[in-house]
Amino acid sequence: MPVQYKDYYKILGVPKTANAKEVKSAYRKLAREWHPDVNPTRKKQAEEKFKDISEAYEVISDAEKRKTYDSLGSDWQQRARTAPGARYAAPNGPSAGGVHFDFDDLGDSGFSEFFQTFFGGLGRSAPGARRTRGMRGSDVESELPLSLRDAYAGGVRSISLQTETVCPRCHGTGTVDNKLCHQCRGAGTIPTIKTLDVTIPAGVRDGQRIRLTSQGGPGVGGAPSGDLYLIARIGADPAFERRGDDLDVDQPVSVYTLVLGGEVTVPTMAGRIDVKVPSASQNGRVLRIPGKGMPKPGGGSGDLYVRLSAQVPTMLTERERELFKELAELAKAR
Ligand SMILES: [Zn+2]
Repeated sequence: MPVQYKDYYKILGVPKTANAKEVKSAYRKLAREWHPDVNPTRKKQAEEKFKDISEAYEVISDAEKRKTYDSLGSDWQQRARTAPGARYAAPNGPSAGGVHFDFDDLGDSGFSEFFQTFFGGLGRSAPGARRTRGMRGSDVESELPLSLRDAYAGGVRSISLQTETVCPRCHGTGTVDNKLCHQCRGAGTIPTIKTLDVTIPAGVRDGQRIRLTSQGGPGVGGAPSGDLYLIARIGADPAFERRGDDLDVDQPVSVYTLVLGGEVTVPTMAGRIDVKVPSASQNGRVLRIPGKGMPKPGGGSGDLYVRLSAQVPTMLTERERELFKELAELAKAR
């Protein structure tokens, strides 16, 4: 049987000038209309139609394939003999002899000989080329509120979020027996609460996106789901201020320690530590403690900056007041 020419534009019902958006929208509409599951009374015809539509979309939605297709003129039959897929024949597509329709089986092999001739080989040789059987689900973004301590520690955390899953009644088509699906009201998807274990990278930054493969919107027609992107939203911490991978903390210190030097206990994300205060430290002096900041993505940690804040004694006793006066007199005399 000679190879039959396929008018993909006619199949999709779009002009040759149609842009990607128009092609996609035409495909989406037709795919829903001709999904074999919603056409039980004319299943065979729907299978053929759906296959044609998928095949046309596979070519026209792919810029490279569309270019090849558009370049085919009246000499297409000669070109067919030398085309990359010319030796490739598909004698047994799903349409042959009552084969049960199954989306997962509808790969290139289900497509026409015309397709195999010009695009079958291409589809296989292009690494990472996404095969369009149905329509991949959309990528979904969701915010993930975290405390600074969560961000510091990282680790696995269980989250619940509302997502859309394919409607089990209509399988995403939105219709059952040519009538609007009751369960999803024609949307094709239903809201579902999903619980996921998310690995939060230690030191995650505010606004950083965590990708969860295939946890986004459901695909149509057996196509893979989209991805879910969780956007870290890190709340303010009562003690620490973050600057990149570094942390700032205010530390009250008595004037005696500032004047004479000594030790002060400061909080860190990993517990309290004693820090040496040099003598004659001014109020507001900043001490850098290496490696006590936030974990860095590539390993290691930022630093902790401790800002010393003088605590002036109040409610002095008579004796204390006398001594301070004496100190003041001495300072004047110097
Ligand atoms: Zn439904």
